[in-house]
Amino acid sequence: MILSEFLDRYNSCPLCNSKRLSTYILSNRKQSVEYIDDSLEIILSLRSEKNKTLFHDYKVGVYLSLKDNSFNIKYFDRYCKEYDVIPTYLINDFKKYLKNASPLKIYKECTSCYKFFTTTTEINLDLKKSIIDTDVNIDHFCFITKTDSDYKIIILNNFYIRSESEIVYWRTNDSIIEFGFGFNYPDNCSKLSLSLISFISKEKTQERINNLLIYS
Ligand SMILES: [Zn+2]
Repeated sequence: MILSEFLDRYNSCPLCNSKRLSTYILSNRKQSVEYIDDSLEIILSLRSEKNKTLFHDYKVGVYLSLKDNSFNIKYFDRYCKEYDVIPTYLINDFKKYLKNASPLKIYKECTSCYKFFTTTTEINLDLKKSIIDTDVNIDHFCFITKTDSDYKIIILNNFYIRSESEIVYWRTNDSIIEFGFGFNYPDNCSKLSLSLISFISKEKTQERINNLLIYS
């Protein structure tokens, strides 16, 4: 799959229709992501958050092509000037950084409602081949329904690779859910595994799921 196919799947949030979908590549590192010409530019700061002496103060730009699956890496000094000749230690530092970072995936997340995000499969930045291989992995949807006494929370995770859906649901008194990557389900949740439930619209999908669930 070409990365642009993944990026073009959603141009607005399927739940709230907002166009505020943020794209990023690492769930736990500082980065800036921008569309530049025909590529997605991801600038990573290689100064370690935990140990300032571990890495040198410089930045790495990862340029993922939107036309094919090639990529390019550029190294910048602290003044954002690109290195003409790349010192070997910078390449080694970057390899170390990748090894310590969370798995590379492209994420798109709604930063309006924070109830939807989607990810690709893990991306291996093979510095020798300069080609990535990726696919749509999981869409995550969160539905909240207010009842007279509490809130019903339903999470729908659609796993496209294995063509399955997982529904996680529970009741709570708190309507504020910090949904997103690394979200932890509460102990009182129930889970269901089913064949893939295609997302049609917020209302129709929610109705379909509601018919499947029994709340304790
Ligand atoms: Zn949204």
